[in-house]
Amino acid sequence: MNQETGLQKPRGTKDILPDDQPYWQYVLDCAKNVVLGLGFRQINTPLYEDKRIFERGVGEGTDIVEKEIFLIESANSSDGEIDDVQYALRPEGTAGVTRSYIENGMSSWPQPVRLFYTGPMYRRERPQKGRYREHRQFGVEIFGDSSAKSDYLSIMSAYEILTKLGFSKLAVAINSIGCPDCRPKYLLKLKKYYSDKLDKVCDDCRRRYDQKPLRLLDCKNDGCRKIAEGAPQILDKLCAPCRAHFQQTLEYLDDFGIKFNLDPTLVRGLDYYTRTVFEISSHEDKERKTTLCGGGRYDNLAEVLGGNKTPAVGWGMGLDRVVAEIKASKVKIPKLRGVEVVILELGKTAKKVCKKIYSTFRDQNINVFYIPSNDTLRSQLKMASKLEADYAVIVGQREALSNSVIVRDLKQSTQEDMPMTKAINEIKEKYNSEIKNC
Ligand code: ATP
Ligand code: MG
Repeated sequence: MNQETGLQKPRGTKDILPDDQPYWQYVLDCAKNVVLGLGFRQINTPLYEDKRIFERGVGEGTDIVEKEIFLIESANSSDGEIDDVQYALRPEGTAGVTRSYIENGMSSWPQPVRLFYTGPMYRRERPQKGRYREHRQFGVEIFGDSSAKSDYLSIMSAYEILTKLGFSKLAVAINSIGCPDCRPKYLLKLKKYYSDKLDKVCDDCRRRYDQKPLRLLDCKNDGCRKIAEGAPQILDKLCAPCRAHFQQTLEYLDDFGIKFNLDPTLVRGLDYYTRTVFEISSHEDKERKTTLCGGGRYDNLAEVLGGNKTPAVGWGMGLDRVVAEIKASKVKIPKLRGVEVVILELGKTAKKVCKKIYSTFRDQNINVFYIPSNDTLRSQLKMASKLEADYAVIVGQREALSNSVIVRDLKQSTQEDMPMTKAINEIKEKYNSEIKNC
């Protein structure tokens, strides 16, 4: 904190400093490459939406809407227009993407529509390790396919990203929470089971009993968890179509070697889920696990937000947690490209040659830094090392006259005199092969 002004970042947020950016870039590149290769296309939606989209989409009475939403205070805008809509910062991606699907008529595009997004999400939670008020997610949504193929594709895409990132002990937990046909009957059974245990559960659970009985299963409190483990299981009460759908989803996972654990207490926090729900954690071991990704099917959401009934399935991945795990694992990650070559011009006679080298490298997409200066060679070399460049190409009067240059390898502290064309070709070749790899 600044001692004088008391100014500091908002509670529960963080700055991502330059040293951490390669991790973020690495994770995002990997995630994007995987989903682009599976036929997903990127969508960006606003960081804020009409609050009702979250109330209806995420669900009133959920933790997110009830306790965690950041409202934007409405004010007269500069053109005198008064906003009569109450806006809220997005707590998750699915409601906004579904709003966009409806608003942009995507139901008339060839189905299924496969989309992915990335960006910050906002939740007014109690900040703690791995839990921020501003965190970043990567997520996918598949609209317009009710078959288990899309449940599989969705889970497989998240699994593939995390595997490629180096997570080798992933744990996939999966459950089905049925549909509006079979769930109400199950909820009656569940309430019956809890009816004589209400004095043993927490206050939150007593509220859930009346408002959101399914969420009784998902309480984190130890005492409540024990009771939840003995509750009747929804898998036994699914209607035939929900059961068949779940079975097909599991068969796909089996076929493609994605190991999973059936978790009858997995119900997830959001209202809009139907049928498949899943979570992927970094580790099977309870003590070491972090939930990295959560998702499921939400066949009723589009209709709730005013569109046609559209089957859909997707997930959101917490990138802050993914990056933290990768950093802790000390995996080697690719370096970001910075300055590669610095051209050092010594004296005005060298200008013409330097400009030529500069434009050749620039045309080849090599990151070249060239600002003519009268400083001594020593101080220009210092500047080049501060920029963390790989090479300095040094041209003085003698070199300019003989069409040669000095190439200094700044990392090895070695240097060599060579003809200009040879220098250009050698450096070009080195970077051409590297750039293709990233
Ligand atoms: P949790 O049970 O951990 O609260 P959630 O069910 O609220 O998770 P989702 O809404 O499914 O989480 O969000 C998807 C992913 O985003 C989570 O699996 C997690 O990795 C990440 N995430 C959620 N909330 C936060 C947060 N406050 N800070 C950092 N990451 C978060
Ligand atoms: Mg949460």
